[in-house]
Amino acid sequence: MKLSMKAPAKINLSLDVLGKRPDGFHEVEMIMTTIDLSDRIELEDRYDGKIYVSSHNRYVPDDQRNLAYQAAQLLKERFKVSRGVTITITKIIPVAAGLAGGSSDAAATLKGLNRLWNLGLSVDQLAEIGAEIGSDVSFCVYGGTALATGRGEVIQHIDHPPKCWVVLAKPELGVSTAEVYRNLNLKNIEHPDVHGMVDALKEKDYDKMCNLVGNVLETVTLNLYPEVSQIKEQMIKFGADAVLMSGSGPTVFGLVQYDSRMQRVYNGLKGFCDKVYAVRIIGERVVD
Ligand code: ATP
Repeated sequence: MKLSMKAPAKINLSLDVLGKRPDGFHEVEMIMTTIDLSDRIELEDRYDGKIYVSSHNRYVPDDQRNLAYQAAQLLKERFKVSRGVTITITKIIPVAAGLAGGSSDAAATLKGLNRLWNLGLSVDQLAEIGAEIGSDVSFCVYGGTALATGRGEVIQHIDHPPKCWVVLAKPELGVSTAEVYRNLNLKNIEHPDVHGMVDALKEKDYDKMCNLVGNVLETVTLNLYPEVSQIKEQMIKFGADAVLMSGSGPTVFGLVQYDSRMQRVYNGLKGFCDKVYAVRIIGERVVD
């Protein structure tokens, strides 16, 4: 049997780091929302018990380092599944971009294999298992819009953002999340108003949402990679209503309300940047 799953990317409307925990993880508060930019994951049952993964993308490992592979292996071992799976990833989400592409592939694999292997797990159970693979995997299992706390794996569903466009621009560089956290100095940082953002979404207040976007990791990545600052400046120049780096970067997103303005920002960035996309926020949970 064969299954095809969508694995959508996320952006962070707000990202704060509260401190470093004794276990080495950072304590975070993030508002994540799903966007309409997705990888496709095909899962095909294997009766020899093996797991294979391929993506035809030179930046994505075709072995046990792939997060989708790790998702399959974890389910196989935990639930003593004798069958295997061939995982074929059509990579659309830029890699190492701050858009949780790998985590979303892992989440889609968990959800798909739950069906393919008839495991009967609830979405909460899948999210809990996902947290063992990576902190963003839990959110990706649910999708929608959420306040993520703990190391990112404690998910509280919140109101989705008002309708708007998201223009994404990714320069030709990958950013290591670990490196950004290593360079983060928790003293003298300006914290974004994460809870104000929760209220803005509840009130469906587009202007308030735009005013409150903030990411504590932005300064770190901007210092490491000045080209990210240039992209931010271009986005502002072409008229985006709010501009922010997603996750640990380097992708920068601009929020834009009107179609004509979206076209202007998109076209303006096209001549300037490696990869540019204009997508919608999905925001609401899609149960598949
Ligand atoms: P996050 O926003 O969760 O920090 P990211 O978007 O910055 O993640 P990913 O695209 O998930 O980063 O990739 C980070 C690294 O993970 C890559 O450099 C790649 O080697 C590895 N990786 C493992 N599995 C995958 C996968 N299925 N897709 C993409 N990268 C993967």
